[in-house]
Amino acid sequence: MFKNGLKKAITFSFDDGVADDIRLVALLNKYGLKATFNLNSGMLSNRRVHWMFKDVRPVRSLYYTETINLYDGHEIASHTVNHVDPCVATPIAFYNELLLDKVYLEALYKTEIRGMAFPYGRYTDETVEMIKKLNYLYARTTKSTYSFDFPSELPLLHPTCRFNDAKLFQLAEQFIELEPTEKSVFYIWGHSFEFLTENDWQEFEKFCKIISGREDIFYCTNSQLFL
Ligand SMILES: [Zn+2]
Repeated sequence: MFKNGLKKAITFSFDDGVADDIRLVALLNKYGLKATFNLNSGMLSNRRVHWMFKDVRPVRSLYYTETINLYDGHEIASHTVNHVDPCVATPIAFYNELLLDKVYLEALYKTEIRGMAFPYGRYTDETVEMIKKLNYLYARTTKSTYSFDFPSELPLLHPTCRFNDAKLFQLAEQFIELEPTEKSVFYIWGHSFEFLTENDWQEFEKFCKIISGREDIFYCTNSQLFL
């Protein structure tokens, strides 16, 4: 069981530190849900980063000044300095991206950085070794397991599913019904810029409402699963 005596935990993981996080954090806070936000320290400078999502949705990164208290009550984790592809960067470049992101984020937010999410969800045996060397508790992938089993391949941490997965509500029902004998985790990941329409926000709020406020569920950040 988790340290609070519960056996079921739900946690969220969102990447890239974009402007839509402001609305997302407010929504999570409204329902007492906890998340981990994976930030790229190199995108928080005064260099505003823009890109397009699905060729229709402009996405902008946040300035550091917009994030100072934004993630209070949640966890900040690493996503490399510049969102580099772990399968493309040279080993030394990737190691520096990991190490420096941890150093920068710890200095910026005055908090210990205990985990990370692989950019693009990609990793190699060598990059997993780097994660171990840096003593990270976990490194999140993007491989949906559709399972509530406690992670068994640490530091690799595979999510249950994406927040907009067609099976999300079905999984929520299963998780609510679940009476596990061992630690179980419902782990949801995504990006706040994937909310394309008001309807997307409403659907996610419906999910938050269903899953929140339950006495048998531990609402925690990613690293609290392991502390
Ligand atoms: Zn990313």
